Amino acid sequence: MNLSPFPRVKLGHFPTPLEPLDRLSELLGGPRIFIKRDDCTGLATGGNKTRKLEFLMADALAKGADTVLTQGAIQSNHARQTAAAAAKLGLKCRILLESRIDNPTTEYLQSGNVQLDHLLGAPTRVYPEGTDMNRAMQEAADEVRHDGGTPYVIPGGGSNAIGALGYVECALELLVQGNSMGIRIDHVVHATGSAGTQAGLVAGFEGCRSGIPVLGIGVRAARPTQEENVYREARETAALLGMHDAVARERVIANCDYVGPGYGVPTDGMLEALTLLARTEGILLDPVYTGKGMAGLVDLVRKKHFRQGQNIVFVHTGGSAGLFGYTSAFAASSPKW
Ligand SMILES: *Cc1c(COP(=O)(O)O)cnc(C)c1O
Repeated sequence: MNLSPFPRVKLGHFPTPLEPLDRLSELLGGPRIFIKRDDCTGLATGGNKTRKLEFLMADALAKGADTVLTQGAIQSNHARQTAAAAAKLGLKCRILLESRIDNPTTEYLQSGNVQLDHLLGAPTRVYPEGTDMNRAMQEAADEVRHDGGTPYVIPGGGSNAIGALGYVECALELLVQGNSMGIRIDHVVHATGSAGTQAGLVAGFEGCRSGIPVLGIGVRAARPTQEENVYREARETAALLGMHDAVARERVIANCDYVGPGYGVPTDGMLEALTLLARTEGILLDPVYTGKGMAGLVDLVRKKHFRQGQNIVFVHTGGSAGLFGYTSAFAASSPKW
């Protein structure tokens, strides 16, 4: 498997650390839990989109683009990292945001990632829920052309085969780190949304015949849709690397039992997981992705889904900037003096 033929720009701090969560593991009393710190990629508070953007932005530059466009939810971490990557590379960036939450608070609409998008110099435009965002991006790209620019459209979440190459590399990084730390990685767990992260990890681990299973904890779609999306993209990613048929359908597994009432809507499990990680490890998760992903991992450990003595790696995909878009959801968990 060779990533070197693909154009790439350096945007982040790699390799990210792989660290044990000793206090959390002890508290839960199950397998040994490790964390892959992809929240520490360094790009304007970091996150998983940085790895994808190293390949996507290089493709944009290779195609002569001067303006990148992308889309996401209002508190999109992907939009914020794209704005930061564009700033670092001297490109313009326009962001399309879909309103996916009923009765959003002022902080949701203005703070967290939205504040950072603007600070990073990217104008945003908000669209009502249910808008065909891919079509809206094509229209926005036409506007850029009309203004004399050369647009490059990045799909939501940076999820296509080019972006997923970033997570093929993360799989390779984890294999090297596991080997050098002398730990056998039994399972990788992470939050899955637009599917590129899991697709890249599965393509990477399967392409290396590592046998390491990946469990995606869903944050939006139901399981059949989520697994189909990941499977399709994992196959495309493997094919891009010349490894046709490297990914079997049964190697793509998502658990979508922790979504709660909907995408971006807080759940009790998310609040518990966030509080737990903050207070046992000093690590910040996020309300939309890693909070629900960790809620899934904690619940599965309690239900003895994993065995004592196993090593589980949770990939921390970032998103803590989104915390400030959700201040009121945490009001009830303030500690007593
Ligand atoms: C985008 C995102 C994810 C999900 O990654 P996908 O590649 O979209 O599945 C997980 N965590 C955070 C913090 C994200 O921003």
